[in-house]
Amino acid sequence: MIHPKNEVRFVNPSIGYGVFATADIPRGTIVYVKDRLEIELTEKIFNALDEHHKSIAVKYSYTDENGIKILSWDNAKYVNHRCNCNTISTGYGFEIAIRNIYKGEEICDDYGLFNFEDEIQLSCKCPECRKSLKPDDIEKHYVIWDELIISALNKVTDVHQPLMEFMDSETKKQLRAYLCGEDAYTSVLALRYRRNIKDTQIVPVGNTPITHQGFNG
Ligand SMILES: [Zn+2]
Repeated sequence: MIHPKNEVRFVNPSIGYGVFATADIPRGTIVYVKDRLEIELTEKIFNALDEHHKSIAVKYSYTDENGIKILSWDNAKYVNHRCNCNTISTGYGFEIAIRNIYKGEEICDDYGLFNFEDEIQLSCKCPECRKSLKPDDIEKHYVIWDELIISALNKVTDVHQPLMEFMDSETKKQLRAYLCGEDAYTSVLALRYRRNIKDTQIVPVGNTPITHQGFNG
């Protein structure tokens, strides 16, 4: 579920539609949560689709850390990628505004966290555009993404959070434990789907080494 203050607008013929803020959304606001109505397309369900529905699912879904394609029931599926995004997925599963988003501005996130299997060319043409999304974008960019998220998380309790009531209790517990200083921060590396990768050890920013298990490894 995306933040309620949004509307879908046509951007241009190459990008198509996008999602725009209909009110100011300050940094630290949770902009997306995986609520109970989100559609979960497991590998089995996805593989049983015909080619037409497969292409729709690929275009509008993201792949989570368990390899499940999540297809949003609301406008969240129309959010476009920008290399200088204003919201970003966190290691907790929700997305957060990493900059102030002003009324009328397009809400955009970074698809580099969506576990694409192949390299995808980008048409966003933003300043310092990465030109393509690569499967290892998380490993390459997690330090800077984590820094932006940690800074935004510092504002979480200062701003209005209309999506908080739709966040699942486990995520709420993890967020609260981090904000209270009981738990270490969860890096975006937690979002990486590691189907065919053997156990690897990566040291996230400001944290002790954590081991990521390969799901089929
Ligand atoms: Zn770009």
